[in-house]
Order: sequence, then structure tokens, then C-alpha cells
Amino acid sequence: MRYVSTRGTAPELGFEDVLLAGLARDGGLYVPAQWPSLSPAEIAAFAGRPYVDVAHCVISPFVGDDIPDADLHAILSEAYATFRHSAVAPLVQTGPNDWILELFHGPTLAFKDVAMQVLARLMDRALACRNRSVTVVGATSGDTGGAAIEAFRGRSAIDVFILYPHGRVSDVQRRQMTTATEPNVHAIAIDGTFDDCQALLKALFNDLALRDRLNLAGVNSINWARLVSQVVYYFTSAVALGAPHRPVAFSVPTGNFGDVFAGYAARRMGLPVASLVVATNVNDILARTIETGRHEPRGVTATFSPSMDIQISSNFERLLFEITGRDAHRVRELMSAQTASNAFALNQGERASLQQTFQTARVDEEQTLATIRAVQKACGYLVDPHSAVGLAAAAKVIRDPAVPMITLATAHPAKFPDAVARATGAPPPEPAVLANQRHRDERFTRLPNSFAAVAEFIGDRARVRSSS
Ligand SMILES: *Cc1c(COP(=O)(O)O)cnc(C)c1O
Repeated sequence: MRYVSTRGTAPELGFEDVLLAGLARDGGLYVPAQWPSLSPAEIAAFAGRPYVDVAHCVISPFVGDDIPDADLHAILSEAYATFRHSAVAPLVQTGPNDWILELFHGPTLAFKDVAMQVLARLMDRALACRNRSVTVVGATSGDTGGAAIEAFRGRSAIDVFILYPHGRVSDVQRRQMTTATEPNVHAIAIDGTFDDCQALLKALFNDLALRDRLNLAGVNSINWARLVSQVVYYFTSAVALGAPHRPVAFSVPTGNFGDVFAGYAARRMGLPVASLVVATNVNDILARTIETGRHEPRGVTATFSPSMDIQISSNFERLLFEITGRDAHRVRELMSAQTASNAFALNQGERASLQQTFQTARVDEEQTLATIRAVQKACGYLVDPHSAVGLAAAAKVIRDPAVPMITLATAHPAKFPDAVARATGAPPPEPAVLANQRHRDERFTRLPNSFAAVAEFIGDRARVRSSS
């Protein structure tokens, strides 16, 4: 499989090069040159198969000849052996035709593990084959940092540096980043906000000399290898509920648009997806764009679902590429308008194309808490605030009651105990994996919000010295 950039001028690359490149050199995102497709018979054959086998069938067309089949299967087996549920992503019924897809059984209790566990192993293998090493740098508002550290700790060809805002992540999230003991892990607490961390990250990547010297690599969801791992559970859940013989719908708590774009990919590959509900909290730029065609960021408001408190969703560019008929020139035009005037407007055809696949609903703070309460009352089941946004959105959109609605549960309720306690009056029970972390020593470095300080820290500690 070859990959092309959404902005059309970067070189085409194969899967492993895209894996290591992250962002394309023209500033665009890599997408497959064509969508692989699965026939109804191939999809039907997924019924009853183990998650890892389905994952192998779904992912291998995207990998092409870059990785031998046996190696890919071994990587997937190992990645999902870290999950605490043998189904990996089980379904739970919460209403007559309503289901929750539990994506939080990985080591850090958020859905980021589903992709990060695979990404780390794919990178490790690619680096070993090329006799190279990299320095992974990431900025996190919470879940991504923990998932990345868990997945990359102890890997010999990779150092991992995670920037997080000091004092602004939850205790659970901080411990997930600071209790790893492996020397290749570096948690950096920045005196600043998440936006400051992201700006520092950008500055590191924009310093081309530093970038090349340290072989910097990124792990956020613009990395195609992360997205591709997320396509899998759309297939397993839909097939469990009767696809391809009947359609299903999904409601997806959305921030950076990675997860819901994976659902779009599943649809392009032939899965009968009747609708994808883009569920947002009050930071509703995507809901507004889908409804009105105008993409215009406003300030970010802090909510109970912090992993969705985002203004600019980087993966949305991948969808723009598709709804413009893969017109890289048009994507560049929209992105320039965004930079020049902080907004862009889709034309009639592009808007229609969006609305054909996506529905959207915005869920405010009160509705989020009310949903946590209502689900607990109706079926004795606790959801986290992100998943609650998904459930509330699913209840708001117009839908065919005969089509199963699957809401993606993106985090375990114990990861957000304060919001859950506020909704229900009691914090959720603490899983053993979190309780154990309470007693471990924490290790992190506090640095000022200064590019020079961060660059020096990473430069001194990264084991990579020069690149091939
Ligand atoms: C990252 C995250 C999301 C948002 O997913 P995107 O792929 O960025 O849209 C939703 N919920 C939780 C718990 C997350 O960690």
C-alpha cells in the first residue's frame, strides 16, 4: 500500500515510512492511496473469530508487503495480550437496541491503549530492521501520555519524552506517567498549560537541526498506524450485532477526530455503517462545522470530558481530503484560509457529502452528569464522562430504531472519579491497576515553559546522537 499526503506535494511513502514520518513534509497528513475493500462474505467470516485474527485481516491490506504476515500477527497478539478482557473490546447492552463498546480494558484504562500498544511494537520492529533509533516526544492533556509511556517503556531503540502541564492533570493520569521505572521514560512537568506543552512540541519539531539530530518521532493521532488499529473494533462490534447483513450506527465521543475517522475508514472498506454520530461536549467546533459548513474555532472551555476539549481537530483534514474528492489543491486552499482568517467555509457539495455520513450532537456539562446518573439507574452500569457524552449524543440524533446504536466507551469510569462522584454521589470502585500505582514512587522533572530548557533536557538525555 502507498500513502499520499492530503496536501499533495510530499513524496508517496509505504506503510513503515509513514509510521516513522508522522506528519508529511508538506504539512499534510498521510492517507492510503486507495481504500482497501472487504466483500460482504469476508466481513461475514469475522463472526465469532478472535479479535486478533480480525485485526490481522483488517490491518494487513494497509501494511502491504512492508511486514511479513507472521510478524504482524505476532505484534497484534502481543499488543492485545496486555488487555484485561479476552474479547479486547466487548459489547454491553444498555437499552433495547443500544450498546456500549468498551474500549478501556487496556493497561491505562483509556481507548488510546488499543492503538498505542500496536504502534509501539510496529515502531520497535521497523527500527530494529533499519538498525535505527528514535526519540519519541509527545504533549498530553492526560490520556495520551500515560498510554504512550506504558507502550514505549523499556524499548531499546526508543526514548520517550512526554510533556504535561504541571498540576493540571488528574492524580490518576499523573501517576500513569510518573511511576514507570524504565530509564528510557522521561515525564516532564511543564510550568504552563496544555497549549504551552503543545507549542513546545511544535517548536521542537520545527527545529529541523534538532529534529534530525535526535530522530524525533511523534505519537499523536495524526500517525496513520494509530488510526488503522482503531478501524478494527468497528468491524468486530458491527459483526457481533449482525453486519454485514444489517447496518449499524456508531456514536463517537470526539476530540481530535481520529477515532471517528477510523469509523469512516471502516465504512469506506465496505462495512454497512448507517451513521456516524460525532459527539462533542460544549467545545463543539465539529458539530458546528457539520451543521453549517463553517469551520471556526472559538476558545476552549474546560469540561468533565477533558480529552475532548479541543479546538482544532488535526485529523479533520483527512476527512476534508475525502469530501473534496481527494483534491489536495482544495485542501491547501481551506487550510490557508484557516491560517489567514481563522476560519474556512465548505461549499454546498462538500457539506452535503459530510452530512451524508455524519450526524452530530453537542452535549453540555449538565447533560453529561445526568446521563451518567440515568445509565446507572436504568441498568446499574457506570460510564465515564466521555462515554456519557457519546450516549447523550446518541439519544439526541434522529435515528432508525431498528438499527443498533453502538456508543464507544473511551475511558473507564475510575479514570475520572470526580465527575462520576459528582453525578452519582459516590466515586467508582478503584481497579487494582490504579490502586497499585498509588504506592509507587513518582519520578518526573519539572521544567519552565521554555524551549531552550526543554530542548537542552531532551538533547542531554536522548540516546540517539545522529541519524542515518
Ligand atoms: C482521546 C480521547 C477521546 C477523543 O478521541 P479522538 O480520536 O481524539 O477524537 C475521547 N475520549 C477519551 C477518553 C480520550 O482519551
